[in-house]
Amino acid sequence: MVVRFRVGQGFDVHALVPGRKLLLAGVELGGGLGLLGHSDADVLAHAAIDALLGASALGDIGAMFPDTDERYRGADSMQLLSLALQRVRAQGWQLANIDCTIIAQRPRIAPFVEAIRRSLSGTLALEPSAVSIKAKTTESLGFTGRGEGIAALVIVVLQAE
Ligand code: MG
Repeated sequence: MVVRFRVGQGFDVHALVPGRKLLLAGVELGGGLGLLGHSDADVLAHAAIDALLGASALGDIGAMFPDTDERYRGADSMQLLSLALQRVRAQGWQLANIDCTIIAQRPRIAPFVEAIRRSLSGTLALEPSAVSIKAKTTESLGFTGRGEGIAALVIVVLQAE
């Protein structure tokens, strides 16, 4: 039987610290704290990259864009997402949909959900109806609940071209 679909999952965490920008899928949220990382630390973009690479069994973000590589210092992670999508497409897959969960106690994500959705829709060339963004707190439990970091979970489906 010819497999026509693939599913991929991605997960990422970055710490919230003073003096950094907070970017989620390239959308800048205010609030005074930002995400720490070698690149721009866009936790949602990173989880999306791993979901795409996972679905196509192309490894992971650390192998494709090593954080020991100076080229990726301060990198725009949405550009890296675009590059990952190109790699996936080159293997004969097209992205059918993406479903994202952002886990953050603070700041409130809800006011930014539509902007994040539009941003991913644009970069991934998907209809907005195929891009889902959900935001959850952890009821003040754990590192996300204490506001020490933000986590992201992403699932994608790829369809053979
Ligand atoms: Mg990351």
